[in-house]
Amino acid sequence: MKQAIKVRFAPSPTGPLHIGGARSALFNYLFARKQNGVFVLRVEDTDTKRSEEVYYEDIIKGLNWLGLNPDETYRQSERADIYKAHADQLTTAGLTYEQDGGLYLRIPTDDQKIVVHDLIRGDVEFNSKDFDDIVLLKKDGNATFHFANVVDDITMGITHVIRGEDHLSNTPKHIMIYQALGAEVPTFAHMPLILNEDRSKMSKRSGDTSLTEYINKGYIQPALINFLVQLGWSDKDGQEIFNLDELVDKFALERVQKGGAVFNLKHLNYLNHHYLSRLPFTEYQELAHPFVKQFEGNKTLLESALKLTQDRAQYFDQLPELISFFFDLPDYEASMLVFKKSSPDQTQKGLQAGYSVLKEINHQDWNQDKLQQILDHTLDAEALNPGDLFWPIRVALSGLMGSPSPVEILEALGKEESLSRLELALAKIGN
Ligand code: GLU
Repeated sequence: MKQAIKVRFAPSPTGPLHIGGARSALFNYLFARKQNGVFVLRVEDTDTKRSEEVYYEDIIKGLNWLGLNPDETYRQSERADIYKAHADQLTTAGLTYEQDGGLYLRIPTDDQKIVVHDLIRGDVEFNSKDFDDIVLLKKDGNATFHFANVVDDITMGITHVIRGEDHLSNTPKHIMIYQALGAEVPTFAHMPLILNEDRSKMSKRSGDTSLTEYINKGYIQPALINFLVQLGWSDKDGQEIFNLDELVDKFALERVQKGGAVFNLKHLNYLNHHYLSRLPFTEYQELAHPFVKQFEGNKTLLESALKLTQDRAQYFDQLPELISFFFDLPDYEASMLVFKKSSPDQTQKGLQAGYSVLKEINHQDWNQDKLQQILDHTLDAEALNPGDLFWPIRVALSGLMGSPSPVEILEALGKEESLSRLELALAKIGN
């Protein structure tokens, strides 16, 4: 019978779940799901000094948020007996020695070729003589990273080890441990490093690479999944937007690149904007809620403001800046009211014409269609340039160079507030 596929994501809880870790989890998850395999979470917390419970919780929370729930979870700190038993097995076989309180695995000193069969990189060759003997148990009796990692992969029946390229140089050591234990060596796949836009190596430790950082900025799950999968993998037909099921179907390790994967924030923003702008409004509103609490005093205006900016925000943390003008008109220069090469006189004429007709509109007619109709009519009747009517009205209402259209803002603000903002603009331009 063919052995069932079993893979693992094996983070060390010495820092928050970072982008590289999240990508490892995703690649492992997709690989497992596609082949009805098992996806294991193994927390590598044998380094008791640097491992912290808060990081463990951050990892669990992050995986859960991404929707990458493991089938089985283990913590190395609970498995000391298993490592000890395997160390004893090697000692009984005469393959170890003790030195300075640690237990070492003796490795062959003659030229022995060690080949890593890698699904992404092909065969990568090493030579045993380039390696020192391997520490299995530290002075304090705890297993080292290398030993616990291999013993776990053996005892858990891991068939494929999918991890970052930074581990490629460890793999020959691991293979020597498998061989010493008489175990079958799994298949490897070393994913490309993640690079900053200047192609320098992205650090795991810097704060802005933690998944939580992106969650807190208001990136949403489907966007991050799409972004993470494209850190090294690409679809053969150039498709860029996938749901998780599609990815399970399309993802293949053979299509993962060897060279570094550049972290492109613009692409993440593009993907997030794509998903945000397509969310059903009620869902958008719910997800936006934590980011716009300060505006809740006026729920109706908040709802209108959110509707008008749904296709503009790249991530939720931008919302306060995008919508605050609805609640508080920012101070602006009179010169902003003047469209391109127009003049203050022309601007004043247009604004005044707009103000006069808007003032006459009944509350029940105060809706986008009617407002547009009336302003269009004024444009013709007064023979105005569009830039002398719509532009200054928009600036008067928003105090900004860029915003939703004048009738959208008029409707959202209501008649009274709109007129008062227009009066202010007339006063500014009149001086
Ligand atoms: N604990 C290792 C790390 O976080 C993972 C090693 C592995 O995946 O084999 O880098």
